[in-house]
Amino acid sequence: MDGYGGTILRINLTDKTIKKEPTDPGVMEKFLGGRGFGIYTLYTEVPRGADPLGPENKLIASTGPLSGVLVPGAGKMDWTTKSPLTGGYASSSVGGMLTAELKQAGYDSIILEGVSEQPVYIFIDDDVVEIRDASPYWGMGCISLEKKLKDELGEEFQIACIGPGGESLVKYACISHDWGRQAGRGGVGAVMGSKKVKAIAVRGTKDIPLADVEGLIKHGRALFKACKDAPAMEAWQRYGTTSVVSWCDENGALPTRNFQAGAFKEGKNLYGEVMRQAIVKTDKGCFACPSPCGKYSYSKKHDLYVEGPEYET
Ligand code: SF4
Repeated sequence: MDGYGGTILRINLTDKTIKKEPTDPGVMEKFLGGRGFGIYTLYTEVPRGADPLGPENKLIASTGPLSGVLVPGAGKMDWTTKSPLTGGYASSSVGGMLTAELKQAGYDSIILEGVSEQPVYIFIDDDVVEIRDASPYWGMGCISLEKKLKDELGEEFQIACIGPGGESLVKYACISHDWGRQAGRGGVGAVMGSKKVKAIAVRGTKDIPLADVEGLIKHGRALFKACKDAPAMEAWQRYGTTSVVSWCDENGALPTRNFQAGAFKEGKNLYGEVMRQAIVKTDKGCFACPSPCGKYSYSKKHDLYVEGPEYET
């Protein structure tokens, strides 16, 4: 099945079973993309009235048919679940490298179901899939854990994990990946925490089956060029999400003191243009992104390198 890994991973945390199911071409065609598959699975498999933080809810991490190939926007992974925050469905996407890695391991989606009694993490190394003990990592923050797992497993493993917020079932908790990229909507991190899954670590080394490699390269290149050349993208590439701060400030839409005001005197110091000059050192982009909005900055005052700044990502 061109464009797909061909396998869905179904991992039951209650009875610790791992099933590899063939990806259904009919479903993928009808419910296109990672989000389509996630919503289809949620709708057909999670019963009405299920507790979002209980064993009946599922957390579905999905790629799409373009994930992992070189076309703009092919680096997003979708996380779908029943939201503990709203009671409705949550669909949250994250960039980084995870979706490409999962597809290259041969999987289109991971369906996490049930609830583990002990903290665990999911280890995926191409065909090897294991549920491993995560007790030593419980309580760790996401950045520290990502570093630790990469140190232990190998730099090339891509990590998605939760921090203490997800463990404590904070209803808006994120799933973190790639040193600060977040699946931040709907409390997907709380659902991962309710299943006691601290992290997912993935390494994939396979080729993705493609129908027309040359055609894909040709059209992918044209799309990258169109994105790079688009005037509207210039500010986004240079300043990232902070490119909108000046507009918000000038139009009274800069959230200030919990939105008691829409601007403040020192707001100009937060403009993307100012920070680019003052602290930003270089750019960071997700897989196959033509407009890297991520920034790395250095604070001389604190002698500290950080990722950011970001504005309302
Ligand atoms: S670098 Fe920024 S714009 Fe590009 S995919 Fe990642 S989050 Fe989106």
